[in-house]
Order: sequence, then C-alpha cells, then structure tokens
Amino acid sequence: MAAQTTSTESPSKSAAPRVRGPRPGTNLGQWKISGKDPLNHNEEFKAEGNPLDVRERIIDTYSKQGFDSIPTDDVHGRFRWMGLYTQRKQGVDGASTSKLDAESLSDKYFMMRIRTDGGRLSVAQARVIGEISRDFARDTADVSDRQNIQLHWIRVEDVPEIWERLDSVGLLSVEACGDTPRVFLGSPVAGVDAHEIIDCTPQLDALGEAFVGNPDFVNLPRKFKTAITGSKSLDVVHEINDVSFVGVEHPELGVGYDLWVGGALSITPRLAERLGVFVAPEDVVPVWAAVAGIFRDYGYRKQRTKARLKFLLAEWGTEKFRQVLQDEYLGRELPDGPAPARAVGRPDHVGVHEQHDGKKYVGFALTVGRLDSAALLTLADATEAVGSDRIRLTPYQKVLVLDVPEDRVAELTAALEPHGMDAHPSPFRRATIACTGIEFCKLAFVETKGLAAQVIDQLEERLTDLEITNPISLHINGCPNSCARIQTADIGLKGQFIGEEFVFQVHLGGGLASADREEGGLGRTVRGLKVTSDDLTDYVERVTRRYMAETNGELTFAEW
Ligand code: SF4
Repeated sequence: MAAQTTSTESPSKSAAPRVRGPRPGTNLGQWKISGKDPLNHNEEFKAEGNPLDVRERIIDTYSKQGFDSIPTDDVHGRFRWMGLYTQRKQGVDGASTSKLDAESLSDKYFMMRIRTDGGRLSVAQARVIGEISRDFARDTADVSDRQNIQLHWIRVEDVPEIWERLDSVGLLSVEACGDTPRVFLGSPVAGVDAHEIIDCTPQLDALGEAFVGNPDFVNLPRKFKTAITGSKSLDVVHEINDVSFVGVEHPELGVGYDLWVGGALSITPRLAERLGVFVAPEDVVPVWAAVAGIFRDYGYRKQRTKARLKFLLAEWGTEKFRQVLQDEYLGRELPDGPAPARAVGRPDHVGVHEQHDGKKYVGFALTVGRLDSAALLTLADATEAVGSDRIRLTPYQKVLVLDVPEDRVAELTAALEPHGMDAHPSPFRRATIACTGIEFCKLAFVETKGLAAQVIDQLEERLTDLEITNPISLHINGCPNSCARIQTADIGLKGQFIGEEFVFQVHLGGGLASADREEGGLGRTVRGLKVTSDDLTDYVERVTRRYMAETNGELTFAEW
C-alpha cells in the first residue's frame, strides 16, 4: 500500500486477532447449555436481582450519604445500568492505566450517559440537557458516536435532581451502559429524508417501548447494540452492531428490513453478517426479541472478553443462527430477502438537504463531538427560532436540525457557527472522530479529543492547496477498545503505551459500506509504524498528500 512511510512499514494481513469459536466441550457459561451457575463475579452480582433496582438506592441512600457510602458492586457494577460510570481521576497518567485497578483510577465523579434512541431530541430536551450541563456537569456535553450525550463531573448527590429534570422532558439514562440493550441507533433523518426506503420511526418507537428496562433483557452476557435505518445512505453503522435492521424493498413483500447480526469492534473486530431474511416492519419487535434472546441464553458468560454475540456467531455460522432463530425462538420461518443496495449519499448528513415536504434539514459538524452548555442552549433557542422542534444526533458525532424553512437556513447556521457547529466544515473537521480518551476514561493511555482538535486546526492550515472532495476519515482511540471505530476509518489510530512511550498504532484502509465502497472492510495495521502525539499532524499530512498525489482522491483508501 502506498501509505507506507518507511521501508520497515508493511500492512499486516489483518487488523487484529480473528474472532474464533470455542473448543468443543468447554463450559462457556451459556445458560441453555451449562445452566445458570455464575462463573465470574460480574455474573454473580447480576444474578442477585434486577440491577436496575440500584436506582432506588441511589435516590434513597447514596445521594444522601455521599460517594463513600456506595458498595463496590454498585459503584463499579450496577451504576452502569443507570448510565453512570466513575470517571478517571484527574492527573493519573496513561502509564498507570494498565497498572492500577479500576478503583484506584476512579474519581468520585461520574460520567452520565443520557439515552437518546435514534438521537432524537426536542427543543425542550436539548434545553434541559444544556441546563443540567451548566448546573451539574461543569459545562461538559459530548455527542458520542452512538447518538448519546455524555456529561462529566456528575456527583451522586445531584443524580436524583438530574433524573427528575430528565424525566420532566421524557429523557432517561436507563440502560445507557451495562449488560443491556444499549441505545437503539436510528436513522437521524427517518421520516423526513426525501429518498428513504422506509421510515423506521414506528419500529424505533416500538423497540424502545418493548425493551428499555424490560426485565427479560436486563441481564445479558454483555452489552447488546441495535441499529435500524431506512435511509439509502446506510447511516447507522449497521455492520458493527449486534443486531441491525437495514431498509430494503422486497420484490413481492414490499418494504421492510434486511437482518444483520454479530458485528462489534474492540480488540477482536468482526463485521456483522446478513442472515438473508426479510423482516416485515411488524416483525421487527419479535425478531429483535429472538436475536437478543439467543444472545441471553446462548451467549458466552464465562469470560467478559468473549461475551459478545460475535463470538457465538463465529461458532455457529449464519445458517445455524438463522435456524435457531426460526425454530427455537420465532416458531416460524422468515422469508428470504434482498441485500441492501449500494449506499447513496453521505451517512453523516452534514450540510443542507432537501426533505420530502420541501423544508430542509441541516447537518452540523462539531469538533470531535464536543459541545458545552452554552452550545446546547443556543442550539435549542436557534432551532425554536426557525420554527423547528426536532434536533438529531448522529453516529458520526454530528448534530442535525430538521424542518428548517429554506429562507431560515442562513439564520440557523449563523447562530450555531460561533458555538463550533459548522454546516460547511473542512474535510478534516467533518471526518475526524475521537473517543473520550484520558481526560475522563479510566482505560485510556492517551489524550484524544484535545489532540484531535489540534490536528484538525493544523491540517486546515497546511492542506489548503489540496482539493479533497471525499473527506478522509480519521478516527482516534485512547486505547484498543475502539469506541471511535478505528478499524473502520481511512486512517485509524489506536492509543497504546509501549515501553516508556505513548504511541498510536496505525490502521489504514478500513471503512463501512457506503457510496464509495460496496462492502465494509477492516483496516490493516501498518507493521512497525507507531506515531507519537507530537508527530501526528505530520504523519496525517504525509499520508494525505501521498494519497491525493497518487489517486487524486478517486480511489478509496482500501483500493489505494
Ligand atoms: Fe476509553 Fe478506550 Fe473507549 Fe477511548 S476507546 S473511550 S480510551 S475505552
């Protein structure tokens, strides 16, 4: 690959260890095969009762008695079911990340993840989150690449009031984290997209009503990620979710969904696979329950590193998975169905776009997903001022405002630009994603968001001579866990601590199915190449210049 920068660099055969099935006869903690005896401490505390009961203890006890009154199994365990993680103690360096346990790295403050299924926010909801950020979270508010908003610096004493305020506008933090059905990704342009195959809003609502907080799915082997879209742009990263419903038109049965299962990244990435079935809109809820039921009952609970659905899929294959789904869980066959067509348009929805009703939706890039209270409050005010009540977050750390009259677009963009929301961003600001990193995350080795913002600024200054029409995606992770999807970026950077040095391991040429590429594929590691934070801009500049010189931007990074 032309992106090598020295003779010692060469792409390895794969980005990471392969996801493999287990050795026959091993007790993996699968409930349906080996029974429910817990095989690790995590499974023990989950078996003690509904982890969501921690809500009452937070309200009645911990918020009154303070952080030190919280037992370990609650603070580092069940709190996650209510969307709360302890954040990283300030000033603890990356070298300590692999040496200290979670307790030693933990601060007495929390990150609170607010659940926003489909990334949907009303004006009132955005305003309340902005006020919570201002009053309790030291102005922090990050849009994650799973359509959530994450606040930091939350004290347990303030949690009941925060929940009351969220509840007053129909928001919650239930199952935003933990071994649960996490936020349901949904097309942020569902119902307004002028070209969509199917409006997934009714199915997204039905999933939320049926399964958020449902005791049947409150104890899964690990997290379970869902995505649904009817957009031709394939805008919900469906290949890296545990279960995805992707809009298709069946030649005889009409519009519905193609079912994908078993995608996830982290250290052993695997893209989801199609089961080849067509899911009618009214079948989305039972099919979701069946896939999640398979995960609950057959998922590997013994080791948390092997407890995602992708490992079971690797053992079974798609044929057996479909058979178990139909025979044991649904009691009927699903019809065969078509694959999604090649994507049309960009999935981040940045810029000004036509709605089917003649109004516009406007997509804004944020710098690596970062907002603050003033930005959120301004977003709420500006959206209301142009007559809209619909804000959307995207899986690309972007913000959309729907239902904007054409003659009010300029007013909206002018109001939001001073707060870092840019409808016409540079390719670098548009396509750079960064995870939380060492600022707040206990697993991080390196700084990510601040560094990424600096790299974007420098690239914007240095690369003015290049005409980059297809933004080059740059994804930055603070550790190998891949919250920022490094294996699916043109340039993916994974933070590590090696010897005495903090470095980034480089992955090149990854991407999800899009208008540019028929199928998703994982990026390849560049053997022998480690980039330091100080050298990062130079490295990205060098790769970008070489890519543009050799391809004129007409090939994907994977094809280059
Ligand atoms: Fe934390 Fe690692 Fe995820 Fe970044 S990738 S947010 S450092 S766990």
